[in-house]
Amino acid sequence: MTRFLDVPATYRLVADIGVPRFLDQLAQTIRDDYLRWSDFDKSPRVACHSQFGVIELMPVADAKLFAFKYVNGHPINAGRGMHTVMAFGALASVDTGYPLLLSELTLTTALRTAATSVLAAKALARPDSRSMALIGNGAQSEFQAIAFHTLLGIDEIRLFDVDSRATDKLIRNLAAWPQLRIVRATSTAQAVRGADIVTTVTADKAYATIITPDMIEPGMHLNAVGGDCPGKTELHADVLNMSRVIVEYEPQTRIEGEIQQLPADSAVIELWRVLSGEIAGRESAQQVTVFDSVGFALEDYSALRYLHALAQEHNVGIDVALIPATSDPKDLFGELATAASGAAQADTALASA
Ligand code: NAD
Repeated sequence: MTRFLDVPATYRLVADIGVPRFLDQLAQTIRDDYLRWSDFDKSPRVACHSQFGVIELMPVADAKLFAFKYVNGHPINAGRGMHTVMAFGALASVDTGYPLLLSELTLTTALRTAATSVLAAKALARPDSRSMALIGNGAQSEFQAIAFHTLLGIDEIRLFDVDSRATDKLIRNLAAWPQLRIVRATSTAQAVRGADIVTTVTADKAYATIITPDMIEPGMHLNAVGGDCPGKTELHADVLNMSRVIVEYEPQTRIEGEIQQLPADSAVIELWRVLSGEIAGRESAQQVTVFDSVGFALEDYSALRYLHALAQEHNVGIDVALIPATSDPKDLFGELATAASGAAQADTALASA
């Protein structure tokens, strides 16, 4: 049987653990997997582009487990009353091919993205960072704010979104975190001025330049989350040229990340090399660092692995028959015939009742 986690089941798991602890444990799981980088069979995700968005498949495997995620990105959806980003995915045994877990991943993507952002910021931001500008106050933004507040010690957050209702919503949701000082800005430039960390998590299918070189101050760390697709960026190319740029998986980020604007041989560093201590993250207090996040399949593998263990431990979710029973694996038709005649008998009994 395959364990199935729908959205209410995932809400229950996160509520049982608490958002900060869930983010912390998930970040640790992602870190553990990044430190096993060479164990994984990796590839850039497969993307199906259309006029208004993209639908992507993200596979990854090690010797034991295979994972994939289905995810979309439709910035236009917000205006249709639908989510910009939605996802689901599965974890399977490499040994048998059997799916172990089928799970919602929309909520989980927001959690894993914030956990990964903090993991990178721990290695890249100045250790005395206390303030963060948060540009783009949509679905992902609370997760970023809470992760940076609870796991990195950010105590002031400066908000800006072109849609003021999105900022109203974020402020409402952050009221549960009274230690977090909230400053509402009237522009991106105002939010960014003096911030130690700048997180951009906007959605627009365009070469946007949310952050321009004149906004950059020595020692800033940029956590660029929203540019994650060909033709969809947030940073001016010169911001990248003046920074130390860290990426998740270079072959994918060259296609989708901020660095799609740079020559193919521009210098970038993969995150796992920094996490393993092989290459320094930040080299000086004055250096500007950029985490060019696009979201890599390994983070979803970690999230599915973490969810699977939690679901068993907390007895959450249901076991579903996703694969036919195996009394005789060569008799797939026989199972159908037995089930069909059982269903027909039940229909007759109902009709004559
Ligand atoms: P969303 O539509 O809920 O929110 C996006 C917000 O950005 C909206 O409130 C919108 O008004 C705002 N915005 C758009 N243009 C802006 C601008 N120029 N200045 C300020 N604000 C602006 O989307 P979401 O689910 O929060 O996702 C945000 C982005 O993050 C998307 O582009 C998504 O593809 C990306 N994302 C990346 C990862 C990753 O791993 N890197 C994971 C999840 C989502």
